[in-house]
Amino acid sequence: MTPLPPLTSSMAREHAQATLSVDLDALAANWRLLAEMSAPAECAAVVKADAYGIGIEPAVRALARAGCRTFFVAHVSEGARARLALGVGSPHTIYVLNGILEDAATFAAYVEYGLRPILVSAEQIHAWEAHARTSGRPLPAAVQIDTGMRRLGLDPAAFAEFAGALVRADAAFPLALVMTHFVSSEVRDDPINDHQIARFKKTIALVPGVAASMANSSGIFLPQKPLFDLVRPGYALYGGNPHQDLANPMQPVVRLEAPIIQLHHIEAGETVGYNAQWTAKRPSRLATIGVGYADGIPRNAMATDDHDGGEAIVLGKRCPFAGRVSMDLIIIDVTDVDDPALKAGTPVELLGRDITVDDLAARSKTIGYEILTGLGRRYHRVYRGGT
Ligand SMILES: *Cc1c(COP(=O)(O)O)cnc(C)c1O
Repeated sequence: MTPLPPLTSSMAREHAQATLSVDLDALAANWRLLAEMSAPAECAAVVKADAYGIGIEPAVRALARAGCRTFFVAHVSEGARARLALGVGSPHTIYVLNGILEDAATFAAYVEYGLRPILVSAEQIHAWEAHARTSGRPLPAAVQIDTGMRRLGLDPAAFAEFAGALVRADAAFPLALVMTHFVSSEVRDDPINDHQIARFKKTIALVPGVAASMANSSGIFLPQKPLFDLVRPGYALYGGNPHQDLANPMQPVVRLEAPIIQLHHIEAGETVGYNAQWTAKRPSRLATIGVGYADGIPRNAMATDDHDGGEAIVLGKRCPFAGRVSMDLIIIDVTDVDDPALKAGTPVELLGRDITVDDLAARSKTIGYEILTGLGRRYHRVYRGGT
């Protein structure tokens, strides 16, 4: 039996069919815009969930080159990846949002990779104190205050009991940051924003001299300017719109393109796709591409009575999805594309400058965060810029 040929990178690329291009220059430009808006507060970067799906290693390297000094991840393993990408011993600060697990291996990983935990409870503060005392090193950490999210953090009253001890000269570890998180910062006039800001200001007054952080992407754009010492944007860095109702000031970072596999002609009245959910109202031309819900295009990206369905750009024209998104395939109604260049192999754009992450999200009844973090593993990924 002849051995199978090895899978070369050009074969892998052909098999992947769809190409996800990540513009690291746009990522850096987005960070610089947010940094300018937030100055003199420091602008960090949230790179959890593989930098919102675009790839944590290229993202942190490009952001560090742009001048970013502080990164936030959700998990210790993400922190380790960020540190390795930045270089062992790099001077950048990496915070881990999800708190600590009290086992020896986790403590060791924090020290080894130079990570700072964001402690969320009295138990975690005590555990870190004990760990810092035994290690005999200054092990800076942050504390999260729960000002209304009821997700992670100490409530202000519980924190008040600790505050004095945490900033004493003989404290077990340096308290490097006190932070909290907005509930509805994308809703500019939600009264909960003011309540949270007031609670946070009262709380940080207990630990004078300690850096404070509140704003995520949308928080930076709030009229109250709750910037404090450090801001923590994620979504806007990756091109997401930090506003609910205003134009997006950010540059798109991802572009998703796939070639047409097959074209079909169908007659008026014929149905398309699983469960025959789409019926041709006229003689129609359909194009099928090799991307589906397994690649992160939501199955809900189909027009229903209460929302428009997904669209793709085919030879400069916006064309609607026809029928349900399948696992590996999408059918597009290309009847209105009157261009002899339309054939198998013609590239189709699913995300980019014209169809934004927010746009696809709205057409799928979800949020752009979920679109970005759901971007599939099967794409041929191309990184541009970032140097
Ligand atoms: C994810 C996250 C952020 C970033 O939020 P965006 O809305 O993506 O800018 C900031 N802070 C905390 C605590 C987070 O969990």
